[in-house]
Amino acid sequence: MRESLCHSNLVKRDAVLVNGMYLNGPTLDIKTTYKFVEDAVSLILDEAVRKGTDILEKVCEWQPPEKLKEILDLELREGGEPHSKILKRCQDVIRYSVKTGHPHFFNQLYAGMDPYSLVGRFIIETTNPSLYTYEVAPVFVLTEDAVLRKMMEFVGWQEEGDGIFSPGGSISNMYAVNVARYHRCPDIKEQGLSAVPRLVLFTSQECHYSVTKAAAFLGIGTKNVYAVSSDERGKMIPAELEKQVLRAKAEGACPFMVNATSGTTVLGAFDPLDEIANICQTHNLWLHVDACWGGAALLSRRHRHLLKGIQRANSVAWNPHKMLTAGLQCCAFMVRDKTGLLQRCHSARASYLFQQDKFYDMNYDTGDKSIQCSRKPDSFKFWLLWKAVGTYGLEERVNKAIALARYLAVEIQRREGFRLLMEPEYANVCFWYIPPSLRKMPESKEFWEKIHNVAPLIKERMMKKGSMMIGYQPHGGRANFFRQIVISPQLGRADMDFVLDEIDKLGKDL
Ligand SMILES: *Cc1c(COP(=O)(O)O)cnc(C)c1O
Repeated sequence: MRESLCHSNLVKRDAVLVNGMYLNGPTLDIKTTYKFVEDAVSLILDEAVRKGTDILEKVCEWQPPEKLKEILDLELREGGEPHSKILKRCQDVIRYSVKTGHPHFFNQLYAGMDPYSLVGRFIIETTNPSLYTYEVAPVFVLTEDAVLRKMMEFVGWQEEGDGIFSPGGSISNMYAVNVARYHRCPDIKEQGLSAVPRLVLFTSQECHYSVTKAAAFLGIGTKNVYAVSSDERGKMIPAELEKQVLRAKAEGACPFMVNATSGTTVLGAFDPLDEIANICQTHNLWLHVDACWGGAALLSRRHRHLLKGIQRANSVAWNPHKMLTAGLQCCAFMVRDKTGLLQRCHSARASYLFQQDKFYDMNYDTGDKSIQCSRKPDSFKFWLLWKAVGTYGLEERVNKAIALARYLAVEIQRREGFRLLMEPEYANVCFWYIPPSLRKMPESKEFWEKIHNVAPLIKERMMKKGSMMIGYQPHGGRANFFRQIVISPQLGRADMDFVLDEIDKLGKDL
C-alpha cells in the first residue's frame, strides 16, 4: 500500500506521512532524470538543429488540424508515460512543427538559425532567470544594459537614453504610446482617463497593426488614430501628416504623438524621418520610430541612410529577432529621455521585490521600468551573437540580405511570368506570378481577379509539398502578391533562383 502511493525508490524505512505525503526525499529524482535531458538534447540537435537547417529536408510537414490532433494524442491523463514514449513525442513535435530556421522559410519577418543566439537561448532556458532584480539575474541585467547602450549608440543618441526589452515589437509600440501620453499628461497615472483631453496620434496607413491595438488597449480609441496617406512606395507623406495634425487641432483635440515606421511590414518602406521630426518639433509631438523591422539597417554603413533622422526620435522600437536573427523574442524599446521617464511612467514600487534597504546599488534593479513582473532576459542571446560575429559580422549579414533581395528583384524582372511590385529598398521583395494561361490576357479587372487566386493556390501546394514557405497578401487594392523576405545568413543566390523556379513549377498549370 505504502509502495503504491509514491515513487517507490524514494520511500525510506523511516518515512513520515504528513497530509498523506511522504516527506523523505524529493518528488523528482534529478539524477535519474538527467539521462532524459541528455537523450532529448541529442534528439533536438539532430531533428531540429541539423535537419531543421538542411536544405534537402522539408520546411514543413503539413497536416490538417483534425489529423494532427489524432497523430499527437493530445489528451492529458492521470498516469505518466515512460521516457522512451516522451522522447517519441518530442520527435513528433519537432517533425510536425514548421522549421523556421530552414533556409527556405521566407514566410515571416524572422528566419534563419543563428548558432550563437541559439546557444544563448539554451542558456536562458536552463538558468531560467527573471530580469526584475540584479539579485536574481546579475549577468542578464548587465547584458541588457550593455546591449541597450550599444543599440542606442547606433540610433545616434550621443548621450544615450533609457530602455527595456519587451516581449514583442507590438508591446514596444504600446510602451511608446503609454510613455508619450504620460509625458504629455503625467496626471494620467493616478487620475486615469478622466484627467486627459481627447488625445490623437498619427501614423501612416502602412504602419504595423499594433499601433491601432495600442490605441484600443490604452483607452486612446482607434478613431483617435489618424491615418496619414503614404506615397506609392509606402512612405508617409509629410504634408499629409501636417494636414492631419491641423485637422485634429481644429477639432479641438489634443495631438500628442506621431508613429513613423522604418521598414514597413509589407513593403519594407522607410518613412522620411527628418521631415516628420520637423513637423513634430513645430507641433510639440512625441516622435516614436517603429524600427522593429528596419532597425537592423542602422548597423550597415551602406544602408543606414534609410533611417536618416532617427536620432531625433523620442522613442524607438527595434526587434533584433527579425533581420538580426536573435531568436524570438528579442525586442528593444528605447527612449531618448534620461530623467527616468520610463521608471516614473510604469513603476509600482512593489516592496517585496524592490526593497529599499538592499546591500547593493539598487539602480541595477531595472524591473520596475517594465509593465511586466517576470521577464525573460531576451537581450542575452543578442549579446552572445554580437560578441561572436562582431558589429562587422552583423553589418555583413544585413548587406548580404539586401543584396540578395536586389538580385531577386532583377531576376523577377528578367523572367517571363513574374512581375515586380516595386524596386526593394530593403529585404521585402513583392511580386506577382502570372501563370502561362494568363500571360496573353489583357490586364482587365478579370485578369486581376484571376491573379488574386494564384498566390493562395501556389501557397497551398508549396505547404503540402513542404518545399518552402513564402507569404502573400492583398494590399491597398492590389491583388494577392507574394512577399519574399530575405533574412537567413544561410542564403545564397541559388536559394533566390530556387524560389522562382519552385513557384513556376507549382503554378504553371494554373
Ligand atoms: C514585426 C513588426 C512589429 C511587431 O513586432 P512583434 O515582435 O511581432 O510584436 C511592429 N512593427 C513593425 C514595423 C513590424 O514589422
